[in-house]
Amino acid sequence: MPLTEALARLKSTIAGDVRAAEPMARHTTYRVGGPAAIHVQLDTVADVTTALAVLGEEGVPWTVVGKGSNLLVSDSGYEGAVLVLGREFKRHTVDDGLLKAGAATVLGVLVQEGFHHGLTGLSWAVGIPGTLGGALAMNAGTRNGSIGETVDTVTLLVPGEGLTLVRGRDVGWAYRTSGLSGRGIILEAVLRVGEGDAVRIRAEMERYLKERKAAQPLGMPSAGSVFVNPEGLSAGRLIESAGCKGMRLGGAQVSQVHANFIVNAGGATARDIVGLIRKVQMTVRDTHGVELRPEIRFLGRFDEA
Ligand SMILES: Cc1cc2nc3c(=O)[nH]c(=O)nc-3n(C[C@H](O)[C@H](O)[C@H](O)COP(=O)(O)OP(=O)(O)OC[C@H]3O[C@@H](n4cnc5c(N)ncnc54)[C@H](O)[C@@H]3O)c2cc1C
Repeated sequence: MPLTEALARLKSTIAGDVRAAEPMARHTTYRVGGPAAIHVQLDTVADVTTALAVLGEEGVPWTVVGKGSNLLVSDSGYEGAVLVLGREFKRHTVDDGLLKAGAATVLGVLVQEGFHHGLTGLSWAVGIPGTLGGALAMNAGTRNGSIGETVDTVTLLVPGEGLTLVRGRDVGWAYRTSGLSGRGIILEAVLRVGEGDAVRIRAEMERYLKERKAAQPLGMPSAGSVFVNPEGLSAGRLIESAGCKGMRLGGAQVSQVHANFIVNAGGATARDIVGLIRKVQMTVRDTHGVELRPEIRFLGRFDEA
């Protein structure tokens, strides 16, 4: 049994928390998702290296998860190991216009740094709930900026290759995805953050946050925008004009506030959410002839939904 073997080996070699059958509903902003067969917190580079070696030798699939704020996990969970970066990857320093941060640092901490010290290049991230690692994998952003624009370098741990330094310009940034996604574990990044006018930066952040609060259903569990905007179009407007706003399936609902958000309106399952995603895709296809592509990532099996 590779999972049982891997679990026992991880428990005896990893300093961080190693759990079996950990409910992923505790680790996603949707608050849904069944158990990860193995859930491991990796606090050091040594632990990351050991975990990847053990999982590789035992043939256990793995994935890395940040705050789970762009993630829908199947109700049946994940038959592999969920890796979460801990202590050593939550540190950050600012020196001479360069912000160096571990991949587990939450974006909010970096935004606060920008707010207090008048750093440029971070304002767009205000109110985005993920980690730096998740933001880099997704090339998180808004119409006011994106993470890829500020990256100087990224350090990855690539299985079989070890620590790899990638220059920002070599990453291959695209709309809500990046060449880092699926390549390995992002451990750290250096962002270029010039010193700007602190008063102007604070005002900008406050304005962006106010806009976000007015336009998004922040009081309900979600994973942000569900679909990427098709070229030159707005997914939210397409969904709204197709009559999907407020559409429900079980506990999942197309938000009344922002049509590109599907919220957990209470007791939703992953099956409800994925079913509603398909219903919206079908309605928009029939009404507008446009295929909506999900922005959120899926973990586990959804074929039974
Ligand atoms: C209310 C709300 C508002 C949002 N607004 C925005 C927005 O304006 N713009 C935007 O772009 N997004 C937005 N999001 C989505 C989400 O917050 C971002 O995509 C965020 O960057 C994801 O980070 P995470 O740590 O939660 O990643 P997760 O959801 O945990 O993971 C997302 C992907 O990144 C990968 N990943 C995570 N960490 C690592 C790592 N260390 N190494 C390699 N891969 C990794 C995962 O495997 C997965 O494929 C919003 C979400 C919510 C709930």
